[in-house]
Amino acid sequence: MIETKNKECKGHSRCQRIPVSDGLCAFHLPSDHKNSLSCDKYNDLLIEEIKEAKENRDDIFELHWEGFNFPKDHVLFDFLKFEAVSEKLSKSWINIRESNIQNILIAARDIHTLILSDSIVHGDTTIGVADIRRISTGKTIFHGKFHCASRTHEFDARGAIFEDEFSFTATIYKRAIFTNCRFLKSCIFSGVSGQVFENNADNEFRIVGFDYSIFGKPNETLFQDVDLRKASFNSVALVDVRFNNTNFYQEELNRNGLYNEVKELQKNNKPSSNQAKNNNTIKRFHHLIYEYRQIRMAMESNKEYTKAHDFYIGEMESRQRQNWSFVIGLYRFSSHFGTNYTRAFCILICMFIIHFFLSIILSPDISILKLCCDSNMANNWLQLSDIAIHSISTGTLQRVGLLENTSNWQSLIDLIFRVLIPIQAAMFVLALRNKTKR
Ligand SMILES: [Zn+2]
Repeated sequence: MIETKNKECKGHSRCQRIPVSDGLCAFHLPSDHKNSLSCDKYNDLLIEEIKEAKENRDDIFELHWEGFNFPKDHVLFDFLKFEAVSEKLSKSWINIRESNIQNILIAARDIHTLILSDSIVHGDTTIGVADIRRISTGKTIFHGKFHCASRTHEFDARGAIFEDEFSFTATIYKRAIFTNCRFLKSCIFSGVSGQVFENNADNEFRIVGFDYSIFGKPNETLFQDVDLRKASFNSVALVDVRFNNTNFYQEELNRNGLYNEVKELQKNNKPSSNQAKNNNTIKRFHHLIYEYRQIRMAMESNKEYTKAHDFYIGEMESRQRQNWSFVIGLYRFSSHFGTNYTRAFCILICMFIIHFFLSIILSPDISILKLCCDSNMANNWLQLSDIAIHSISTGTLQRVGLLENTSNWQSLIDLIFRVLIPIQAAMFVLALRNKTKR
């Protein structure tokens, strides 16, 4: 091919290749064009491009394949065909954005950076075990199946649409972003021995974002053996999504919970006074409550009650922080939102004890002084046991064992405890029932 300066391909603004037909180079000819190349010839040209690629300042080979129209039934990076350039590919930065791609098959083939943004992939995409430092598939539409099992530092699929089955078993070292994605069919995130989204170095920043994503088939969506401690599911409908053996444990909260709550608590520790900031906080807690409720319901339908309870606590705690309420505060105090039966039981016992001591103080027959100094212990014990029986019958709403000379104060105290003790007893039963449900 002889280069003529004035004639450049019109296929893409970046393309300076020589046109072969209709002002388009071989790479930019539509796949249904009469002069379009066969898959083998197209691959030969691609391999030639890789061979001729020049190193940039970072010793990376830059390849600009923007806007390419790959021929029908073409398979990109087919193992055997690209064998000759495999060494160079592992140090290549390849930009294939805004292209019409047919199929992608990367297996045992390392690539430095792969950019597929704003493209259409008409067939299947399979990224097998391979080291690819960065993969970007933002806003790409995948008509076919998508499977990724690579070892990758950063996977960015912002706004991508996966129209067919999606499965992700990749090991992500730094972050995976699925913000605004749409998964229209079954969707599986599965870790190989819990390694998905797991970080090698603990101090490194790691995050998995699913904000505003849509799972079109929630009952065919599964998170299996996945570390989701730094995941965000802001405004994502998750009821019926299955979470199997996932890790949501937050050390800062001492329970399972959401990373967004941990971040919120860290933010709240910093002083903020102005009104706008407060309004934003309320809005963020509103999102947090929704996020908690969605995962709680998903966990409940999975029968993972221990986790569901922790998410319920997160939901109530967030509600309380968004808008403080006395009733929720009381619910939290009495039984930790119906999740702590030991606490509920202790408070119940305390109520009896408090009623007992108040009754001693109010009793006309007994004075504290008399209790301490009187030599007739037997008589005192008799009176004390009378009061104890009175406390128990008050708490259990029985008529027997009522004291004879009751003052108005005593009647008032009795009335209050006749309401409080049964409520607390109900709290205890509720917490116990929740515990046995686990
Ligand atoms: Zn061109």
